[in-house]
Amino acid sequence: MISEEKALVVFSGGQDSTTCLFWAREHFAEVSALSFVYGQKHAREVELAREIARKAHVDFDCMDVSFISRLGSNSLTDTSIEMDREKPAAGPPNTFVPGRNLFFLSIAAVYAREHGIRHLVTGVSQTDFSGYPDCRDAFVKSLNVTLNLAMEEQFVIHTPLMWIDKCETWALADRLGVLDLVRKDTLTCYNGIQGDGCGHCPACRLRREGLEKYLERKNKDPRI
Ligand code: ZN
Repeated sequence: MISEEKALVVFSGGQDSTTCLFWAREHFAEVSALSFVYGQKHAREVELAREIARKAHVDFDCMDVSFISRLGSNSLTDTSIEMDREKPAAGPPNTFVPGRNLFFLSIAAVYAREHGIRHLVTGVSQTDFSGYPDCRDAFVKSLNVTLNLAMEEQFVIHTPLMWIDKCETWALADRLGVLDLVRKDTLTCYNGIQGDGCGHCPACRLRREGLEKYLERKNKDPRI
């Protein structure tokens, strides 16, 4: 059922948020996408995001929040730090950008309020938990309450991928009719390579393993 309300998708142009963009299109009458420039090494991400939004026929806007990269160091914004390939024994990997989802969702909420939008959509997931604390369900729920109190609004943060893994995320993209688009047009790779990516960074590995698992399952039973 399509809600007559509007939704705003926090949109990076990666596999997860692109799947969420098309999920939102299925559930809401009007969908907009908001991207962020936060000092990421691969600024091309934003151009790809804009292009995907155009193909999806949704409004696109972009906010510059590059101050985030000056607040803390991490290997996604600092070229001098070598990226963690495996999850460290303790604490999040150095690809964690502290505060990123906190800032993104908070800014998205202010933006949404300004545009008469109550529903926010984010592609975070705690199933293939990468060690990022701000991808967890408890964080999103807690922030939802905080944002409602902060602005006396009734925002609803939707997390369609929270409890599904990468294989299921591919299955969802396929069901939404955008498996090829997600596969070719999105950028998930930490080394900035579009589509199937570099193949060996942690993001590519997770994405590829999920896709292989899904395609194998689909080959066995094409009805899924
Ligand atoms: Zn990669």
